[in-house]
Amino acid sequence: MLKVNNINAAYGKIDVLWDVSMRVAEKEIVALVGANAAGKTTMLNTISGLLHPGAGTLEFLGRRIDGTPPYQIATMGISHVPEGGKPFPDMTVLENLEMGAYINETWKKRAETLSQVYEFFPILKKRSGQLARTLSGGERQMLAMGRGLMAKPRLFMFDEPSYGLAPIIVKELFEFIRLLHGQGMTILIVEQNIRHALEVSSRGYVLENGRIVLEGESIGLLDNDHVRKAYLGL
Ligand code: ATP
Repeated sequence: MLKVNNINAAYGKIDVLWDVSMRVAEKEIVALVGANAAGKTTMLNTISGLLHPGAGTLEFLGRRIDGTPPYQIATMGISHVPEGGKPFPDMTVLENLEMGAYINETWKKRAETLSQVYEFFPILKKRSGQLARTLSGGERQMLAMGRGLMAKPRLFMFDEPSYGLAPIIVKELFEFIRLLHGQGMTILIVEQNIRHALEVSSRGYVLENGRIVLEGESIGLLDNDHVRKAYLGL
């Protein structure tokens, strides 16, 4: 579904990604893991068109998307849930969710999708009239995931869903990701919580200083000496 081919990316003169290649097949959950500043968010920003690659190509569903503006990439079916959720703070929960469906086709089906979101996250229904700025960190993350789902994506990308949240909330969010996968969703998850990400995914890539240094089945990566020493403290 997604092919990332030899991508380089930079912010002005600061190079961040070098020769990164990745694949995500339909219905797969793939993890991109690494420490702070490895370039994980930069990779997601490049896929969703917020940053254009300096070299390399991106293909989604067989079409080149490098150089395509973000709104078109979203319309093609990629939902990107940013780190911390980043809802629209002065809009209510319901308005935020509806913003996710602001694409012709999905708008028509918004009532149906909204009831799915409320089924996953009943707290969002309770908070539907509340301003997003007043939500807790966990609720903000749920709202961002719900907003992403409202777009009825083909590929769902999550940037560090566990960031700064209590273990019980993280468990709930990962449960949501598992449920989505069970329903056939294709998922790319970026995490520095490597254990969580590799436990939920089938394959993974390890990014260090902007380069992929390891890739393979997640179960094998969890058992890899370098991963165990460098990331799992074992
Ligand atoms: P974290 O897990 O801490 O979120 P990350 O792996 O997602 O880290 P990125 O956010 O992609 O890392 O950042 C990679 C590098 O790019 C960092 O050194 C960061 O300082 C730099 N960087 C990120 N955004 C910008 C920007 N807008 N302008 C300049 N440099 C940036």
